[in-house]
Amino acid sequence: MTLTTIETTTPGAKYTLFETSGVLTVHLAGPGKTGGTGAILCGFDRFQRDENGRWMIGFSVGGGTTGPGTHHRVCKACAERAGEETIRGTHQGLFQYALYPLRDRHGDVWMLGDDGLLHTRETAPFSRDHVERKWGPLHPDHTDGGQ
Ligand SMILES: [Zn+2]
Repeated sequence: MTLTTIETTTPGAKYTLFETSGVLTVHLAGPGKTGGTGAILCGFDRFQRDENGRWMIGFSVGGGTTGPGTHHRVCKACAERAGEETIRGTHQGLFQYALYPLRDRHGDVWMLGDDGLLHTRETAPFSRDHVERKWGPLHPDHTDGGQ
């Protein structure tokens, strides 16, 4: 089964080609029963409507926004349910480090926070782009303290 990234806003937040709420959540969905993309793995309802029947969630299946001022928060419930399934979509790379820490070339460990930024004990939180520009490439740390 192939999973697809679903970028979503928080309910009621702006979501247009030019303007978003800044922090967006990325969920995962498998194929739908009759084609297309099915329900989000964690149960988040991307089709929520308000009392007037208007959409409350902005979402993009497989795509989404990037660029300065936009942070992507990985849904950890979806990441935990993804297992070893193949993930496709603009934000697929986020799921490689959603559940594991990343290690820079100095051996410092960075964890993805709910704000979409990487956190370490020594510094303020930064975007992954910023961390890699300043400290070099990051690699998933799967060692579990073994060696
Ligand atoms: Zn989710």
